[in-house]
Amino acid sequence: MTPILGSHVGMSGKEMMLGSVKEALSYQADTFMLYTGAPQNTKRKAIAELNIDAAWEEMRRHGIESFVVHAPYIINLANTVNPSTYEIAIESLASEIERTIAMGSHILILHPGSHVGAGVESGIDRIAQGLNQVLTNATDCCIALETMAGKGSEIGRCFEELAAIYDKTVHSDKLRVCMDTCHLNDAGYDIVNDFDGVIDRFDQLIGKDQIALFHINDSKNERGAAKDRHANIGMGTIGTKALRYIVHHPDFMHLPKILETPYIPSADDPKKTVPPYREEIALLR
Ligand code: FE
Ligand code: FE
Ligand code: ZN
Repeated sequence: MTPILGSHVGMSGKEMMLGSVKEALSYQADTFMLYTGAPQNTKRKAIAELNIDAAWEEMRRHGIESFVVHAPYIINLANTVNPSTYEIAIESLASEIERTIAMGSHILILHPGSHVGAGVESGIDRIAQGLNQVLTNATDCCIALETMAGKGSEIGRCFEELAAIYDKTVHSDKLRVCMDTCHLNDAGYDIVNDFDGVIDRFDQLIGKDQIALFHINDSKNERGAAKDRHANIGMGTIGTKALRYIVHHPDFMHLPKILETPYIPSADDPKKTVPPYREEIALLR
């Protein structure tokens, strides 16, 4: 078996999702992740304009079997301070679930949220309340809660917080986890020297069968920095060896691994930046 590797890709212009597939293929990826519009806002095109059928035709032709969607990071389910922000979050999460299913993906990645001063416990309550509003028995898609670095008042910086969200969510069978290597490192987990120990801990609290995918990023910061700054593969504090160990781990071979590393200066024109994904995918493969 070989790992299932891909990266974050764009979706815009006339081709929309077909363009995303073509971009993934240009990196020789096996899968990909997209935002359904700008990650910073919730303005979205109608489903009919996403060019879904043509995209799937292209995927089938090239053996790409699945992809994942990342919810806009402006969605903050943990906000107890501003009720209108919370209402907007619920609405856009519900329509993002609908869009994910219509596009033929079964994984929607979500940052749990930031409690913005109200405290971890009320943030967690609010997140579960929000998930309970959007998830039903019939939801044909999982929400993968992302492990966070713990920057600011982010929730999800430890497995205990994710477990607490699971506990309070009625349809927790619709929840999964997205393990982000940069975030795990920045949150203090020693994935460099003891990845298996970290996974054991996760397994005790949530169950390793709940991991839906990995975000494979190096980190610009030391372990425990609570910073969240992604580095290119091999250019950070995690390093190629540890990242390759994770990518090739037999327990997770069947899961998608998505790169979200920064663009790098172009060799031709240093004022321009270019995606590093083709080279980084090859390096990890
Ligand atoms: Fe994310
Ligand atoms: Fe991530
Ligand atoms: Zn990040």
